[in-house]
Amino acid sequence: MNRSLLKNFRRNKDLRACALWLLVGVSVLVCVALGACRRGQPALAITHVTLIDMTGAPPQRDMTVLIVRDKIAAVTPSESDDVPWSATVIDGHDKYLIPGLADMHVHLTAAGEPSGSREFMIPLLLANGITTVRDMGGYLDALLPLRREIESGKRVGPRIVLAGPYLDGNPPAFQPSLVVTNKVQASDDVKDLIRRGVDFIKVQSNLSRDAYFAIAETSKAEHASFVGHVPDRVTAAEASEAGQRSIEHLTGVLRGCSSDEPKLMREQFLAATGREKHVSSATRQDDWDGELLQTFSEERAHALLEEFLANGTWQTPTLVLLRNDAYPGEHQPDANDARLKYVPQAVRQRWTQNLAQLDAHATARDYAERAGLMDKSEYVVREMQRVGVNVLAGTDSPAPFVYPGFALHDELALLVESGFTPMAALQAATSRAAEFMGRSATQGTIEKGKFADLVLLDENPLADIRNAGRIRAVVVRGKALDRAALDGMLAAVERFAAAH
Ligand SMILES: [Zn+2]
Repeated sequence: MNRSLLKNFRRNKDLRACALWLLVGVSVLVCVALGACRRGQPALAITHVTLIDMTGAPPQRDMTVLIVRDKIAAVTPSESDDVPWSATVIDGHDKYLIPGLADMHVHLTAAGEPSGSREFMIPLLLANGITTVRDMGGYLDALLPLRREIESGKRVGPRIVLAGPYLDGNPPAFQPSLVVTNKVQASDDVKDLIRRGVDFIKVQSNLSRDAYFAIAETSKAEHASFVGHVPDRVTAAEASEAGQRSIEHLTGVLRGCSSDEPKLMREQFLAATGREKHVSSATRQDDWDGELLQTFSEERAHALLEEFLANGTWQTPTLVLLRNDAYPGEHQPDANDARLKYVPQAVRQRWTQNLAQLDAHATARDYAERAGLMDKSEYVVREMQRVGVNVLAGTDSPAPFVYPGFALHDELALLVESGFTPMAALQAATSRAAEFMGRSATQGTIEKGKFADLVLLDENPLADIRNAGRIRAVVVRGKALDRAALDGMLAAVERFAAAH
């Protein structure tokens, strides 16, 4: 090495040392600055609000809820006035604060991927105050990354618990499904899904008895819950005894209230059942519906509810879905519904086709029977609430004319129409939902330490459940979306829907 090279090397070394010290210095400064930020954390305070905290307590007037990062830091009477000077304040005078709502039955990936859920479902849910969803069947490859994006803060969205693909028989009713035909496969599929990160297992209508009970057994052994439809070949009482944690859409329930359930089960495979059609014949379906209605027994209904109560079986009636199926065509839903503008063309087209199918060949008598069955469903739901069977608020969005987000407010109204108090209906979408998910420690009520998922309302939802849809602001993971932000999101969905 010659002299000049050596000198050069030394000088570079000095420079490197200098850069290193500079880096250390800057890092120290950044750390100090960050520490300072953390001490004077950006806080949000909703002041002078009427709190409906969903703990079961009556509304409390003139309260302040302090939010730091994504948690509720304090809930105090506003007079105590300990809001930090640096907090952003939302004036809650004449307003009502409830916990963020949970739609316990949605399909985020049913409207096409990837934009279907991100540009359509997610903003509609948030704009309607929904901060938690239970995804009841969808594509794991799309759902898991979406959930990660939301949890990492990259995207604003609801908390998601999910099932991934359905477990169904052959042929499966919906996609994505894993077709399960024997015990070994049932056991393998349940274990595999759990390994892939699902929160629970979703069972579908067309499972064989063997496959269904094997799924029940493996889920139990793996400490996972299984939920979904009562399969056509299994009675609702059997499903309840087997430990199915929630029954969706009252599947098998009205049949279980029949004085002639065995006959109806035999005939089910000659008829088409609701939305899952096996041997499709509209006439047979309507005959079957008529028989179901005529043999409805209140005594049998109460025996079944006792079974649900004893086994801790939850129910997600999705009355909004049942009502759409009961009153298709010109009766329901309204084709001029203002919310249609938020629905992408492709989805709208599917909805209309489905409606035409439901309506095909239906006579006045058929409509009367469907309406009669809807009345029975509402009767059963009312009795569930009365005797203490656990009920969850869910919608099946985006099923035909079940408008994502908005539909949960329809469901709450239908629960009230069925005999729930507005408080009980709201609990089905908040505290009870959290209880079902085993998340009562972190969500479902407005209490110190819980996640800051909140909905600020202009009017009292206990006076009229429809007021739960009169949203002034939504707080999700501590981030406030005011009315202007929510309207901006809705406008973006409208533009997306027009272009897709
Ligand atoms: Zn569903």
